[in-house]
Amino acid sequence: MKLILKGHDFEYEIKMLLNLYFPNEKYEIVDEIIDKDNTIESIITNNYYKVSYYEEGVCKFTSSLNKSDIEKLPTEPIERRRESKKIIKKLVNNVAYKITNKKQPWGILTGIRPTKIVFDLIDKYGWDKEKIKLILREKYQICEEKINLMMEIVENEINILKTNTNNEINIYIGIPFCPTKCLYCSFTSYPIDKWKDHVNDYLNALSTEMEYVSKKLLVNKKVKTIYVGGGTPTSLNAEQLEFLMTMINKNFDVNNIEEFTVEAGRPDTINIDKLKVLKRYGVSRISINPQTMNDKTLQIIGRRHSVEDVYYAYNMAREVGFNNINMDIILGLPGESYIDVKHTLDEIKNLKPESLTVHTMAVKRASKLKRTVEMYHLVESKEIDHMIKMVYHEAKSIGLKPYYMYRQKNMVGNYENVGYSIQGKECIYNVIIIEEAQTILALGAGAVSKIVFPKENRIERIENVKDVHNYINRIDEMIDRKRKFFHP
Ligand code: SF4
Repeated sequence: MKLILKGHDFEYEIKMLLNLYFPNEKYEIVDEIIDKDNTIESIITNNYYKVSYYEEGVCKFTSSLNKSDIEKLPTEPIERRRESKKIIKKLVNNVAYKITNKKQPWGILTGIRPTKIVFDLIDKYGWDKEKIKLILREKYQICEEKINLMMEIVENEINILKTNTNNEINIYIGIPFCPTKCLYCSFTSYPIDKWKDHVNDYLNALSTEMEYVSKKLLVNKKVKTIYVGGGTPTSLNAEQLEFLMTMINKNFDVNNIEEFTVEAGRPDTINIDKLKVLKRYGVSRISINPQTMNDKTLQIIGRRHSVEDVYYAYNMAREVGFNNINMDIILGLPGESYIDVKHTLDEIKNLKPESLTVHTMAVKRASKLKRTVEMYHLVESKEIDHMIKMVYHEAKSIGLKPYYMYRQKNMVGNYENVGYSIQGKECIYNVIIIEEAQTILALGAGAVSKIVFPKENRIERIENVKDVHNYINRIDEMIDRKRKFFHP
């Protein structure tokens, strides 16, 4: 498809939005309408904003804003640009809807943190729910169901974030190893069997980084949460896990933090010794992630464990005394229908985890799924919508409320991921990272620290290299990146 942009430079935003309607389309910027091509023309002048769609040179649909509305726009340049961008996206959205007859649940939103918009609106107008809903509906064209979800989540988040103080900091520690690579995975994750000879070196490098952070970057700071993710941290054997936990306990005041999570994602990596290690060193929350409770699908997605393994690992964790267990599931896995997801939900309801994180299938660029997608049957957007609605009601029926959400690129149907929890067992770290509410110092290969400057409404990132060998060999440089940022 051809694109014409006149009077503005919102090319990126327009392409991102059009990708939701035409996922495999390539766009070329041109200066004028060419008879044989399909073209979307977007124009901003002093008198009008207009977006039109031309099919083989003939105008089929137009959406525009007239002069009287333009006169109401802010005059301050930055604010005016921001509003102009929203208007052009809205007009493009109107035209794309007319072409496809497909409504986007999230309207013109293409970002990954929709609830941040609500927080911005609260800053501007106070907690005026009706006004905020009106803006989400009219300016962002978000559908009513998603608006209500956003409002419900933000209300829960406000409750969770209200005890935050300025001197608090959060720690993320990445363990980039897994037993096998899941079909849909795009994370930094190395198969532990192949990498077993490098794991100890990795842990040593990690502990060097940990020592630096604890000694130099936590002066006058209090660690609020620790999150050990990956990868699958429980891919480490019990001794390695004990070494990691010892290092964490040595460097951070684990007894005085609010939450200590370890992802024990793959049930086939969990055993009683590892669970006892986690418990002994103060881990308060673990995640055991089935993704589906259908054996056939587990095989398709390359997980090499069974539903029985999920039950076994889960019951073992309860026996060891874990009273805050999260489970992750994915809606829209290859070959799965509504009935399969309902079955997964029924099994999860039997297990009664304290929280449930519900992802919608995303075909990520770096995944094996992306390269082989034609081999699989992925459900249509409409069916995902039914699944999402069912999960919401089923989760509520066992006392789980939505408490955080985020979106990703390339999600089937352009929906969202939602974390549900019973009251009081919500993952504080998840809310902090999604709302970018506090600084997170991230350690390990591929870890990205985010330094939050709330007064300036600014966030800075410090990245570690992704490659494990590079991380080990360049650990001094990784530490130096942090040092230079905090003590230039
Ligand atoms: S368990 Fe998670 S990190 Fe590991 S391969 Fe699967 S999706 Fe990737």
